[in-house]
Amino acid sequence: MKNIILTADRPTGKLHVGHYVGSLRERLRLQNEGDYDKLFVMIADAQALTDNAGNPVKVRNNIIEVMLDYLAVGLDPNKTIFFIQSDIKALSELTMYYMNLVTLPRLLRNPTVKAETKLRGFDHEKGLPVGFATYPISQAADITAFKANIVPVGEDQLPMIEQAREIVKSFNNLYAETLVLPEALLPTNKACLRLPGTDGKNKMSKSLGNCIYLSDEKEVVAEKIKNMYTDPTHIKISDPGHIEGNVVFTYLDAFCKDEHFKKYLNEYKNLDELKEHYKLGGLGDMKIKKFLNQVLEEILFPIREKRKEYAKNIPYILDILRKGNKIANEAADKTLKEVKNAMGISYFDDQFLNEQKEKYEN
Ligand code: ATP
Ligand code: MG
Repeated sequence: MKNIILTADRPTGKLHVGHYVGSLRERLRLQNEGDYDKLFVMIADAQALTDNAGNPVKVRNNIIEVMLDYLAVGLDPNKTIFFIQSDIKALSELTMYYMNLVTLPRLLRNPTVKAETKLRGFDHEKGLPVGFATYPISQAADITAFKANIVPVGEDQLPMIEQAREIVKSFNNLYAETLVLPEALLPTNKACLRLPGTDGKNKMSKSLGNCIYLSDEKEVVAEKIKNMYTDPTHIKISDPGHIEGNVVFTYLDAFCKDEHFKKYLNEYKNLDELKEHYKLGGLGDMKIKKFLNQVLEEILFPIREKRKEYAKNIPYILDILRKGNKIANEAADKTLKEVKNAMGISYFDDQFLNEQKEKYEN
């Protein structure tokens, strides 16, 4: 069997450079290597509503933004199937059956859900929406509906993949071998697993306002880099500096290559040399920030320009989604049928008829 790949993003905002290094870059590599049977990319609007129920307009408005980001980075509708989660009815039904395979304490132990619950302010007073607490189950439905075996994600998604794997094993054990066990595909570069926000506090996240967006204009990126968290103990240029927790260096780890030094900062051979100098003292934040800005601009410029081109043809984008939804619905309906067969809850086939006839007519 060839690989079936599935990933998703929540339409809660435009995509940022954390998405780029955490998941988009892997998807692009897989897409362009071509070693797969199907590559699905889902816009997770139903999941986005689990913590944005009061703001459906935000979710609605970000569908096209996310699609523009996908196309701008080079995801290709001739190779990748794009679709919208809420349009795939089978996903809700699968979620309903999977809910019976997961206990409440197991669900609430999920470390990512715990962290996000805190960040979203779902405290005793506000309460935790049931849909939010259970989103890992619906995510298992998303993955298994398409029989995906590879899921390229950032590190924060590992507990979700683990939950999906447990559901697959329970289902297959309890009923019949039906679902495919998914594997997370993480970026190999450590800095990309969970890119921090520009504030250096949390992971870069649309919901936290600490992002550099793929669509940010050049001046906006420059300003964000200028205000980026570095090393608070590095006050004078001559002071020795720290690399650990210094966001500029984390971003350089994620984005820069040796060739960038040749082009923009040729007094250093590579990032190790730059880090050594910073640690010793004598290298100012302005200089490393300027370099990061040049590196990021090289990546972001073509994305920004392509995005503007695609934005001129919105009907084309809706057309891509319409076609993708059709393919996704066919695939998910097929799996749902298999799931119901395995559970013995399909009643309009010969088997059920014969069983019942035998029971009542003899
Ligand atoms: P939200 O704040 O609404 O949850 P988000 O910024 O966390 O948005 P998601 O849509 O939840 O983005 O995540 C989409 C994908 O991007 C996931 O695979 C996730 O692991 C990855 N990802 C998100 N943020 C980062 C990050 N800072 N570093 C690496 N990967 C990330
Ligand atoms: Mg998230």
